[in-house]
Amino acid sequence: MFADLHLHTQFSDGTYTPVELVAQAQRYGFRAIALTDHDTVEGCPPTAQACADAGIEFIAGTELTAEQEGHELHILGYCVNTGDPKLLSEIAKFQVVRQNRIREMVARLNQLNVPLRAEAVFDLANCRAPGRPHVARALVAARLCASLDEAFERFLKKNRPAWVPKFKMSASMAIKLIQDAGGAAVMAHPGLNHSDELIPAMAEAGLDGIECFHTKHSTSTAQHYLQLADRFHLLVTGGSDCHGVSKGHPVIGSVRLPYQHVEKLKARAALYQARAAASSADQASSASTVHSNGSQI
Ligand code: AMP
Ligand code: ZN
Ligand code: FE
Ligand code: FE
Repeated sequence: MFADLHLHTQFSDGTYTPVELVAQAQRYGFRAIALTDHDTVEGCPPTAQACADAGIEFIAGTELTAEQEGHELHILGYCVNTGDPKLLSEIAKFQVVRQNRIREMVARLNQLNVPLRAEAVFDLANCRAPGRPHVARALVAARLCASLDEAFERFLKKNRPAWVPKFKMSASMAIKLIQDAGGAAVMAHPGLNHSDELIPAMAEAGLDGIECFHTKHSTSTAQHYLQLADRFHLLVTGGSDCHGVSKGHPVIGSVRLPYQHVEKLKARAALYQARAAASSADQASSASTVHSNGSQI
């Protein structure tokens, strides 16, 4: 019994629809999958439905872009309540940041005499959390670049001429946002972020786990993070980070996380869900106290 806990759909920068993603998961025989689109949870309800139809367990998730000491970090949230008002209002702000950043990247391209239109990117992205992969695809579609790689290498990679930094929430805020929405917070693909020195402080700040298994982690990298997880009492997760067919061969199936890790993750999230339920019950009871006092006057 295996799981893939890191997957994207068209609701961010993946190419699969929820139904297509779940068909792939079924092909590989996964017992459980998590959807972790960037800065959105919108894809969760349709993916949950597709999973229910396919007999696969669904875990609602997201991948928040955050920052700690100048490093960009991706924080995965698992078993979040996708209707949580605070989570929704915060991610809505970061979606606006993403949309404005697309306009800025396009303006820089235009200054470089690359005649891309922002509307072409938005039409192609057709989602609330557009990112650089959509700009790259629009450049290829308009025949302004020959490939996605060329688009990143010439224009979009960090410090290339059309790259625009993105305003990010702090990692500790991302952790709190996820946990207050009843989810467990996990550092994504630490092997890609050169962020090992941040792990002790993040564990201290309440981080629940690290993504030890990832398509771009070698066996020795995975071993290294398994040791760190053990040392800092962090849960272990893993996933393919499949974005569909945008970057060649789809990578779903490359990571098969033993299901026992999913059980531990769900048990941890259950603690946050209980805490969130207790705090909203508290708020409801103090609100009704005010109301009953008010009506006595
Ligand atoms: P953004 O969130 O807009 O900064 O875009 C980040 C996403 O772009 C990552 O999740 C990757 O999917 C993709 N990406 C980043 N660097 C590259 C690259 N050099 N080539 C292709 N895709 C990339
Ligand atoms: Zn992505
Ligand atoms: Fe990521
Ligand atoms: Fe991802």
